[in-house]
Amino acid sequence: MKQELKAFGTIELSRKTLQAVEAMGFEEPSPIQAQTIPLALEGHDVIGQAQTGTGKTAAFGIPTVEKVAEKVPHIQALVLSPTRELAIQTAEELNKIGQFKHVRTLPVYGGQAIDRQIRALKRGVHIIVGTPGRLIDHLNRGTIKLEEVQTLVLDEADEMLDMGFIDDIERILKTIPAERQTLLFSATMPAPIEKLSRRYMNHPQRVTIARENLTVPLIDQIYYETREKFEGLCRVLDVEETGKLIIFCRTKRAVDELVSSLDARGYSAGGLHGDLSQVQRDRVMKKFREGRIDILIATDVAARGIDIDDITHVINYDIPQDHESYVHRIGRTGRAGRTGVAMTFIQPKEYRQLRLIMKLAHTKIQRRELPTASDLLEHQKSLVQERLMKTLQQNHYDDYHTVIADVAAEGYDLVDIAAAALKLSIEGFKDAEEEQATASEGFGDTGGAPGMVRLFLNIGRSQKIVRRMWYGPLRPRQISRATPSASSTSTTSSPLWKCRKMWLSGS
Ligand code: ADP
Ligand code: MG
Repeated sequence: MKQELKAFGTIELSRKTLQAVEAMGFEEPSPIQAQTIPLALEGHDVIGQAQTGTGKTAAFGIPTVEKVAEKVPHIQALVLSPTRELAIQTAEELNKIGQFKHVRTLPVYGGQAIDRQIRALKRGVHIIVGTPGRLIDHLNRGTIKLEEVQTLVLDEADEMLDMGFIDDIERILKTIPAERQTLLFSATMPAPIEKLSRRYMNHPQRVTIARENLTVPLIDQIYYETREKFEGLCRVLDVEETGKLIIFCRTKRAVDELVSSLDARGYSAGGLHGDLSQVQRDRVMKKFREGRIDILIATDVAARGIDIDDITHVINYDIPQDHESYVHRIGRTGRAGRTGVAMTFIQPKEYRQLRLIMKLAHTKIQRRELPTASDLLEHQKSLVQERLMKTLQQNHYDDYHTVIADVAAEGYDLVDIAAAALKLSIEGFKDAEEEQATASEGFGDTGGAPGMVRLFLNIGRSQKIVRRMWYGPLRPRQISRATPSASSTSTTSSPLWKCRKMWLSGS
């Protein structure tokens, strides 16, 4: 494996850095990386402009790490970052790039106890990723010295400008030796950034990645506002035509919980997060790639670097922390010129956060109402109808003709026979007792007693997975209770479960 690794695409790198990039799951450089890394490795100052989510971190991270002399225990590179979250993420990525070379990167940001940072600094650090305010604090205290800095990076320069850091940045720039390499990365290049670059950069080489190459995809962006996100999600999953989809949750625990809740409802989902072993992750990813599961539930971190082209939907089950994360997440769909849909679920109180995301990501997210129960019913009916029509068109049911003919000969009406056959194929056979216990289930049912349940069968769909789900207040446990023949209270013994199994094995 290592033998094959001669270069990262067209870029020549040291063995250890290549190994790290490989371990990070990067198969080839993104366009901004392919064009800026060689220039930076040659020692040029570089201005790299490309949209969010295009891999700018590694574009400066790889050459910066390559340049560090790991035996020299000084701060050799400084990355300025607009926010604490970004500083943390960027430091993480740099630590990964430098993992085999043993290049240490420390994030330094406001909000964390400064003593802790000072202790970490004393242990020896090669690269600092800092927010301007906290960095100045350290400079004033003398706890960070920048005399040995050879590489300076201004990351997300436009955002730093937006946040009013320009004076702080200039102050920091003046403390760094002029004999340095400066790399500036930004999604946009407003005039003050141009001015900054003219003043503080040395014949910068400019790389601009045109919009066509951007990962911010050509997709529908919508949001649903609801207090009942799980119910809402299930409805959407039932009505929406989906292929492979990724659902994002904020925490590892939320991922696990959603996997099991969806599983209990008969959806096939797999979870991906940092607590899983590499083997477990690979297994989930393989299933997802091969279409054996069609829902992947992941945390932001776990989803990083996932490279699957045919994702039709990205669902933000938890609203992303910030617009960067939003753009990263939705960038998982609509790849390779395909269309995609991004859906975001919010609680009413999260609306402001959503507005902020729209503003900072320069995007419009349309509000949509959740499908109602009757939309769902209609949809299920039309799916069954559609499948039935297709079966008729395909005309491969000769073997069953005699069965129907025999039943008709008993004097039953043909429409009745067809309806009964449909019921049998969807719900399986029920004896009279079961039939009574579940009398309120089924398509035609619209009202009923408390605890009543409606059953919906979701047949077909592109991925040939059949799901059975129920709606309303009934929980799996209650289903078992409502069924006299069920001997235990576990979901697996409920008729629903059996029914689902039957369908799955038949598909
Ligand atoms: P930007 O700074 O341009 O917004 P990031 O550097 O945050 O973008 O990268 C976006 C995502 O793409 C990250 O999850 C990163 O790990 C991933 N990524 C970066 N470069 C590559 C690559 N060459 N191959 C695969 N994934 C990559
Ligand atoms: Mg970035």
